[in-house]
Amino acid sequence: MGEAIAERDRFLTANYARQPVVFARGEGARLWDAEGTEYLDLQTGLAVNSVGHCHPAVVAAIREQAGSLIHVGNLFYTDPMVALSARLAGVSGLGEGTRVFFTNSGTEAVEAALKCARKRRRAGTIVSVHRGFHGRTYGALSATPQESKQAPFAPLVPGFVAVEPTAEAITAAVDAGTAAVILEPVQGESGVYDLGPEVLRAAREACDRHGAALIFDEIQCGLGRTGDLWGWQASGVVPDAMTVAKALAGGLPIGALVAGPAMADVFEPGDHGSTFAGGPVQCAAGLAVLDVVCDEALLAGVREQGERLTARLAELPGVVEVRGRGYMQAIELARVDALALVGRALSEQRLVLNATGPSTLRLLPPLIIEPADLDEAVDRLAALLT
Ligand SMILES: *Cc1c(COP(=O)(O)O)cnc(C)c1O
Repeated sequence: MGEAIAERDRFLTANYARQPVVFARGEGARLWDAEGTEYLDLQTGLAVNSVGHCHPAVVAAIREQAGSLIHVGNLFYTDPMVALSARLAGVSGLGEGTRVFFTNSGTEAVEAALKCARKRRRAGTIVSVHRGFHGRTYGALSATPQESKQAPFAPLVPGFVAVEPTAEAITAAVDAGTAAVILEPVQGESGVYDLGPEVLRAAREACDRHGAALIFDEIQCGLGRTGDLWGWQASGVVPDAMTVAKALAGGLPIGALVAGPAMADVFEPGDHGSTFAGGPVQCAAGLAVLDVVCDEALLAGVREQGERLTARLAELPGVVEVRGRGYMQAIELARVDALALVGRALSEQRLVLNATGPSTLRLLPPLIIEPADLDEAVDRLAALLT
């Protein structure tokens, strides 16, 4: 096994800590490796496979669209692109006049949001918060105040300010020179921290007071992950724009800046663009995904099962804290090497998980998981921790 893995690594850049598993097939909440061993997936390609692996409606939409047109570019229209923009604007909750700019990834959606905010308030600063994660390209990285991610790539983009994710700190940081505040309503990559309604409300008020744009990064917490379509919904605080990506096209690369009326008309011809973005195959897949996740019964199930999940996780041996809601949760473990645990979960329990820190496991089950499978997954986790 070790030798075979070393051989596989030979021509791949060594920037990922990959587990020694070769996956070959997926269906719903299950994955199979090349030897045919079955796994339960509570990691979902990092919050991407929300409708499960190879959802039949997504597969059918991709097959059908790929057979008629794969790419034509952004100097023309395609029906899937137009339909997905209308559908996203409609379900965004951002109001009349909302427009969508498509990208190929989350970080590019963030870049679009930052450029849009900067054009709206020239040379304005961007305020982000600690533990936030917005992507790896330079603008998004500059809004991601994590030493380990930023330091090797300095100097970063000027004009970014990082503060604690508290109402007071955000209020104090925003002034007439602020272009935007960018936040994840539920911070994902750093280990699932729900910022809560007070922080979001303070950010909204500070932005309103000074005419800055409020951008919510919904790339991970959006599209039903928390049991609401958007992570901000429970707070009632509406942003000026959102970034969406990960789960949007069921596994195909896509992202979007969904800009409400305050930001929708900032970009003009020539301001920004992307060759592949808004391609018909991705957008057809996106429409199929929205058909599944924009379903009140599905979302209510995620909320209910999410509460059950929180309660069960809290009782597992060695768990000192459970964070998050819906199907976006993390557990904090006492005295455990979480990375080693992820490896053991795979090899001993056939359970796919991920660690966001030395003692933190993150659980991102597919929204369509059967309650019995979720129970089974928690049983396997219990066996691992016992
Ligand atoms: C994953 C993620 C990104 C970056 O998305 P990529 O598609 O990896 O570029 C940005 N923001 C949040 C909140 C994310 O979880």
